[in-house]
Amino acid sequence: MYSHIVDFHVHTDNSDGNHSATFMCERADFNNLRAIAFTDHCEVDRCIIDSAHERAVFQTFFEIEKAKSAFFGRFLILNGIELGQPSYAPKIAERILNSQKFDVVLGSIHNLRNGYDPYFADSFTEKGVDDFLKEYYYEMIQMCKWGNFDVLAHLTYPLRYFFAKSGISVDLNIYKSYVDEILKLIAKNGIALEINTAGLRQKLKKLQPEIDVVKRFKELGGKFISVGSDAHYAADLAKNIPEAFKCAFEAGFSSITLFQNRTPIQLSIAEEI
Ligand SMILES: [Zn+2]
Ligand SMILES: [Zn+2]
Repeated sequence: MYSHIVDFHVHTDNSDGNHSATFMCERADFNNLRAIAFTDHCEVDRCIIDSAHERAVFQTFFEIEKAKSAFFGRFLILNGIELGQPSYAPKIAERILNSQKFDVVLGSIHNLRNGYDPYFADSFTEKGVDDFLKEYYYEMIQMCKWGNFDVLAHLTYPLRYFFAKSGISVDLNIYKSYVDEILKLIAKNGIALEINTAGLRQKLKKLQPEIDVVKRFKELGGKFISVGSDAHYAADLAKNIPEAFKCAFEAGFSSITLFQNRTPIQLSIAEEI
């Protein structure tokens, strides 16, 4: 049983979530969460062609500030952002990061440079999956080399859709050299590996990544683990976070990490097991 539940990957209706920051905070308060990080999307490559997308970052920031004052003293509210594909347009990414005082920055790859995102595809072939993943992990390596983020989000993001839409299970061992390079880079740069629980409430029914990858991160010198539900609805807030804690602990981590002012703070999970 864990008494200190947190959630460091949460979306609001300022991006593709369905509830306001205030409503999410009411749920967080009701569920006795200790801390929550709002991490609305900013798809950096989309900002090249759509300036309104970048403006949404400011709206999110103000909504979070309002929520912070309304819930002051109840639990910790962190001002985060989920940067998608920052390495495709690093100058824009840096400008966005310099525009506000963020507590935590998630780095994600959702789509390839040609815009292809498996979320929007109807079905997949085994060959299509393999081609996609090689390019996907290559791009994730480029993002990790860029490195101006705090948490690597959902390392196995596309697997949700490969399985849900075409029943394809991916053996990540095939991509071990890519995954190892990613884990080494984030370990070296002090970036946290996220254990994302969204897959458990989807058809995939797995944490992302699974424990073998978390163990490998530890072996390769990784120090920081983050946890997030990737909630887009208030009802999903902090869902399955205890499973993520358990995974981190069994992989050899006695703490998880929150970022405040982009500085890591360790929260012990050992005594809560
Ligand atoms: Zn994401
Ligand atoms: Zn997300």
